[in-house]
Amino acid sequence: MTKWVYSFGPNGSDGREDMRQLLGGKGANLAEMASLHLPVPPGFTITTEVCAYQIKHGAYPDDLMQQVREALKSVENEVGHSFGDPENPLLVSVRSGAPVSMPGMMDTVLNLGLNDETVAGLARKSEDERFAFDSYRRFIQMFGDVVLGVEHHRFEDALEQYKDGKGYILDTELTADDWRELIEEYKAIVKADTGNPFPQDVHEQLWDSVGAVFGSWMNQRAKTYRRLHNIPEEWGTAVNVQAMVFGNMGEDCATGVAFTRDPSTGDNDFYGEFLPNAQGEDVVAGIRTPQPLTEHSREKNESDLPSMEQTMPEVYLQLCDVRAKLESHYLDMQDIEFTVQRGTLYMLQTRNGKRTAKAALKIAVDMVHDGLIGQEQAVQRVTPGSLDQLLHPTLDPDAEKDVISRGLPASPGAASGTIVFTADEAEQRAEQGEKVILCRAETSPEDIHGMHAAEGILTTRGGMTSHAAVVARGMGRPCVAGAGEIRIDTKSGTMRARDIELKAGDTITIDGGSGEIMRGRVPTVEPELSGDFATLMGWADKIRQLAVRTNAETPNDARTAVKFGAEGIGLCRTEHMFFESDRIVAVREMILADSAEGRRKPLERILPMQRDDFAQLFRIMRGLPVTIRLLDPPLHEFLPHEDSEMAEMAEATGLTVDEVRARANRLRETNPMLGHRGCRLGVTYPEIYEMQVRAIFEAACQVAEEAGETVEPEIMIPLVAIDRELKQLRELTDRVAAEVMEKHGRTVNYLVGTMIELPRACMTANHIAQHADFFSFGTNDLTQTAYGISRDDSASFLPSYEHQGIIERDPFITMDPDGVGALVQLAAERGRQTRPDIKLGICGEHGGDPDSIRQCQEVGLNYVSCSPFRVPIARLAAAQAALKAG
Ligand code: PEP
Ligand code: MG
Repeated sequence: MTKWVYSFGPNGSDGREDMRQLLGGKGANLAEMASLHLPVPPGFTITTEVCAYQIKHGAYPDDLMQQVREALKSVENEVGHSFGDPENPLLVSVRSGAPVSMPGMMDTVLNLGLNDETVAGLARKSEDERFAFDSYRRFIQMFGDVVLGVEHHRFEDALEQYKDGKGYILDTELTADDWRELIEEYKAIVKADTGNPFPQDVHEQLWDSVGAVFGSWMNQRAKTYRRLHNIPEEWGTAVNVQAMVFGNMGEDCATGVAFTRDPSTGDNDFYGEFLPNAQGEDVVAGIRTPQPLTEHSREKNESDLPSMEQTMPEVYLQLCDVRAKLESHYLDMQDIEFTVQRGTLYMLQTRNGKRTAKAALKIAVDMVHDGLIGQEQAVQRVTPGSLDQLLHPTLDPDAEKDVISRGLPASPGAASGTIVFTADEAEQRAEQGEKVILCRAETSPEDIHGMHAAEGILTTRGGMTSHAAVVARGMGRPCVAGAGEIRIDTKSGTMRARDIELKAGDTITIDGGSGEIMRGRVPTVEPELSGDFATLMGWADKIRQLAVRTNAETPNDARTAVKFGAEGIGLCRTEHMFFESDRIVAVREMILADSAEGRRKPLERILPMQRDDFAQLFRIMRGLPVTIRLLDPPLHEFLPHEDSEMAEMAEATGLTVDEVRARANRLRETNPMLGHRGCRLGVTYPEIYEMQVRAIFEAACQVAEEAGETVEPEIMIPLVAIDRELKQLRELTDRVAAEVMEKHGRTVNYLVGTMIELPRACMTANHIAQHADFFSFGTNDLTQTAYGISRDDSASFLPSYEHQGIIERDPFITMDPDGVGALVQLAAERGRQTRPDIKLGICGEHGGDPDSIRQCQEVGLNYVSCSPFRVPIARLAAAQAALKAG
């Protein structure tokens, strides 16, 4: 018999922490906490397998009902209340819990088990009528919204109207009788909206809620979140049913959330927020401003609200004890939820806390220094992609800034952009290349696409654990949350901070590290790469086997990459050096010439410029290998298009404008990506490659002479499909190299190799290797040609493929392991057959993608090469890949 239901509680747990795939993160950790004898209200988890079963069969497994009944029975026994009992009712919460946390994606129902009869029982038992009826109306509202699909503003409007009628301002002014009256209104709303009365049968309530949680796994918000985070749909969610504890039974009650260390900075400070006399989601909803947990953070944030340390010292000490136990057990920073019911602490959740990259680094490094974890574990604790957050600029401390307001420093980094007020607009404007700051009262899961598109996020309500703060930290977007002084008026498209009015489209800057909001664009400075960053990177470098090079052709990029730890240049795209405005005329002249002779003249003008380019790179790279790819332009990118350009070329060449146009037209190709590019150009116009090789070796000799540095150029021939192409161009390279070296009386050590970027090259790699000292996989072209999908046009249909689940990931971003990855593997094997010591690398975009780097490790490549800003990401990803490979 399959076990569909796992119990947890003070009497022990069926589940464990490592069962998160089956029990979801929340369920697995509730079970684990209960086993650690932490105060967890009893409950049970319905497994993710039930969700998958239900999606597949459209029904629950036959024996589920029986297992739920038994689990519920043992909860009743433990707390001494009965589900549906009018005298002594058990109330439960129903919450979702997927294998990985999906903040805000799934729904929660609290106070389930209340109806017209049990509410009276609750009133008697708690000796608090007001609390009982308040709980019931909350339940109707949540159940109505989440399970029955009644829009929640219907209930809120009714409440507001009721308050207006009575002249009340605050909810706390409503009496038990007021709630009683409102409950009748709420029930009427449900009846009017759904056609059915509010369900009084508690079992019906339970099963409907379970169904709604499973259903919410397939809602649009959840689907979008999964797509953005690559979470497979098959995983499903679990459902947790747990005995209710109440944080809203009076002033000796509270509810709160906390991180065992500061999730923004990583400092070893207990960091959290709580609300006295409040229930469930009140803290994250951002409606009331939460109070600080500790005196330390109250002082730090200059809050005038009292801390829990001050107002509930005993509970606070208990919570500190829980914090210590959890950290020493999980050996990681935890994000916890708790409730205090009449002075007693209950734990409702723990999970590894989301944190900024800065905090992740600090926590990992601190935990190694404290002997809690080892260096290898520390290296695995930091998500490579998140390092991006640290590599980007922060505000220039010397810049003038016009601070108009401030909020909480919810996610670090500085960002400038134009103000937009809706997620859709953020997305639309960002698509047109505009940098935007999404400004909202608060965000919800419906805003995720806009948050993703924005440079930064500003909210006027909510705390450090509000939706905006949590999601922005996860995405690495700067965020200032809870800027309470600012009023947003979406209708008029304005935003007001005291007497300053800003409009949609105005530019602002936010600093998610300080919480400041500034008018206009404020200059930024480059990040600091020492401290914890350098320490962790040092550990990663000791572990990794793959070398990390960079794709760079400009001195600026090369310098940045060296600063980030690049160990050489893996791809210098020389065609990018041809685009400079002072060269383009000479380049066009060369392309438009109709004879070798006609090409030589402009080439002679280009030669010294190329030589200087290479010399600069060699100087910056100081003896590190520099892979220079000979020209590989899709020709059309260089042709003159505009009339003015035609006229300019006519003057330069002495041809008429019509003749220039005719030659340009002759050179136009139907499929430039598959046209006269790469080594085909070198084969047909050898004088171009001769010039480039000459420039490389002259530069190498020159730099070696002036600096005494060894310079090790690696000459790379692009787009080879046939071994004879490479043979011929290698001979050309060796010949010109020998001539230059002889002239300078110097020997330069160099390699000649090829890019492997066509399927035929993979299949014939054993032949190609006869002429190649190295292969560098050009997986951009290899993906294009393996799929037969144009790199330039894929964006118009691949997203739809992803939506429809035909492909899981964009193969131009993450190497497709079954097709392109298999071709790489095969080419590596065949290349090594001919030349066992052949050097192997990758220089397609995949060289900076952590999942693709793992594949590179498996194939046993020597290095990956990626754009400068991805170098640290690649270093860390390579270390993780090495650890995974064992
Ligand atoms: C490639 O094809 O993967 C590559 C690196 O070359 P390019 O992107 O310049 O075609
Ligand atoms: Mg290519």
